[in-house]
Amino acid sequence: MKQQETIFDKIINKEIPAEVVYETETVLGFKDINPQAPIHVLFIPKTRIATINDIKDSQAELMGQLFLAARDYAKQIDEDENGFRVVMNCNQNGGQDVYHLHLHFLAGRQMKWPPG
Ligand code: AMP
Repeated sequence: MKQQETIFDKIINKEIPAEVVYETETVLGFKDINPQAPIHVLFIPKTRIATINDIKDSQAELMGQLFLAARDYAKQIDEDENGFRVVMNCNQNGGQDVYHLHLHFLAGRQMKWPPG
């Protein structure tokens, strides 16, 4: 199940539409279809990694690139100083639904803690 293609592969391959806001050779950023904040973007590696548990040591740089994407996007939309939240859910208890690792980027409102 976890090794299978997800809907995010279809977005990467442009087989289904998405509102892309950020793209490099390795990372894609697009608007979440069910936003949980005024700004809700998902940053994904273009290569499929199912969960945090599946990250290889050799993919450390790629993981860093997800955070650099969040940094650059926050600055681009002028939310860097206001602040934002990034979240990565892992497996069932983490609330992961799509098994293609993704960094949620949420901004545009006051976040609460702890998350639900
Ligand atoms: P998670 O629960 O962490 O796996 O998050 C999956 C996220 O993907 C959810 O916030 C969904 O709203 C989002 N999502 C699912 N399908 C799409 C899609 N086709 N385009 C954009 N976002 C999607």
